[in-house]
Amino acid sequence: MNPFSLNGQVALVTGANTGIGQAIAVAMAQAGAEVIAAGRRDCDETLALMGSGRAMRLDFADPMAARDVFAAERIDILVNNAGIIRREDAAEFSEADWDDVIDVNLKALFFTCQAFARAALPRGRGKIVNIASLLSFQGGIRVPSYTASKHGVAGLTKLMANEWAARGLNVNAIAPGYIETNNTQALRADPDRSKAILDRIPAGRWGKPEDIAQTAVFLAAPASDYINGAVLNVDGGWLAR
Ligand code: NAP
Repeated sequence: MNPFSLNGQVALVTGANTGIGQAIAVAMAQAGAEVIAAGRRDCDETLALMGSGRAMRLDFADPMAARDVFAAERIDILVNNAGIIRREDAAEFSEADWDDVIDVNLKALFFTCQAFARAALPRGRGKIVNIASLLSFQGGIRVPSYTASKHGVAGLTKLMANEWAARGLNVNAIAPGYIETNNTQALRADPDRSKAILDRIPAGRWGKPEDIAQTAVFLAAPASDYINGAVLNVDGGWLAR
């Protein structure tokens, strides 16, 4: 058996209509999984790129939106990728921008993991891949709720791994560096910020969604069965600097 294959596995990827989530869905389909591309809007482009799989509407405006998803059918792999960011000086930051980001990035992630685990623990196997951030480790600037949420994602990944590793569930996270997606469009559009970021990346380039996708395949595959509670940096060396 190829330890990097996802043959026979069913994977659900949140926020799969674009960016990193889309790349993960496509890479997992290429690795042999049956992929459910979940999004708050249609995932037609992702379905076309995958050439197989199916779509599901999941809008984390309700953080409990996935509560019944995993009881309804066997899903082996969960990728919590959906996320949002709001930028404002900490001194001006609004309660709405706090709540919106924490709800999607942290509360929905935890309760989606919980719903997955309730179905997967009795089977004794399952893989969760959470998408964290460099701001799981660093403070960032003008993104207080995002930083709080991504520090939370790293902590919860370890907590859930501690509770579920011996029961056959692998819970890990990926901390992407600066990746070319909608999420970083504002940064790339600002010549000063863009240059400052690029100058610090040892690899000398922004990351691509595919850079994250192959790491997600690894963390979903048997090859990573003894990895638990890891937050893996995929950042072109940013945090090594
Ligand atoms: P993106 O292109 O903005 O994608 C974010 C995804 O989350 C989209 O599919 C978006 O759907 C979905 N989403 C947002 N709100 C949602 C909701 N209420 N319910 C369901 N889905 C929702 O950005 P991305 O860079 O690919 O981000 C993916 C993940 O990577 C996020 O968790 C982000 O924090 C993380 N990340 C990104 C970077 C980077 O440099 N790009 C770095 C570190 C971490 P819509 O298209 O409908 O909005």
